[in-house]
Amino acid sequence: MDSRLILALDFPSGDLDNILNSLKDLVAGVKVGFPLSLMIGWEGISEIVKRYPEYYWIADFKLADIPDVVRYILRKFEDMNMDGVIIHLFTGHKRYDSKLDLIGVAGMSHPEARLIRENFIKLLEIADLLNIWGIVVGATRPEMIREARRRLPKVRIFSPGVGFQGAKPGSALEAGADFEIIGRSILRSKDPVKAAEGIVKVERHNLW
Ligand code: C5P
Repeated sequence: MDSRLILALDFPSGDLDNILNSLKDLVAGVKVGFPLSLMIGWEGISEIVKRYPEYYWIADFKLADIPDVVRYILRKFEDMNMDGVIIHLFTGHKRYDSKLDLIGVAGMSHPEARLIRENFIKLLEIADLLNIWGIVVGATRPEMIREARRRLPKVRIFSPGVGFQGAKPGSALEAGADFEIIGRSILRSKDPVKAAEGIVKVERHNLW
C-alpha cells in the first residue's frame, strides 16, 4: 500500500468499526496503546486486530521492563496478532527473539523529553547494536530524523508529532522518516476521512 500514514488510535470518538472501515484506503497501520486498552480492554484490542488484518498493527506500550517480563509481553502480543511493538532502548542491550517487528524509542516529540533527547546518539547506537527493525523519532525535530537516517540508513523511522504537536504533514517524510504517526488531527476532526485524505495528499506530494 502506498500510504505512509499510521493512525494513533488513542482517542476515537464514535464507532470504532466505522473509523477502521472508513480509513482502510488511507492508513497503512494502526498504533494502539494505553488509552484504547483502558477504554476497550485487552479482549477489545484483540478483537479489532483480528477483525482488521489489512492494517499493520503496532502495540505502543513503550516497554521498559526486565527482559523476562518483556519477553512474556512480546509473546502475548504475538498471540494477539500484533505486527510491531514499541520498546524503550534506554533499558539496555538485550536482543529479543520475537516474531514481532521491534521498534525502539530513539527520540520523543514533546519538549519535556530532555533526558531522552540528550542521549539520542547513544540510543541510536543501541538501536544499531540490537539490529532493531524500526525506531521512533519525533517529527518536531527534523534534524534528529536526518541524523537517524544518516546513521542508520536501513532502519524504518516512525515519526509522531505531526499535526497536534506542531509538525506539518509530510515534513517528517521529507526529513527521511518512513511513516508519520498521527492521531488527534484525524480523530478529533469533524470529518476524519477528509482529514486523513488531506494528510495523505500532502505526504504523497512531499514524497514523489
Ligand atoms: O495525537 P497525536 O498525533 O499527537 O499522537 C501521537 C502519538 O504518538 C501518540 O499516541 C503518542 O503516544 C505517540 N508518541 C509520541 N512521541 C513519541 C512516541 C510516541 O507522540 N516519541
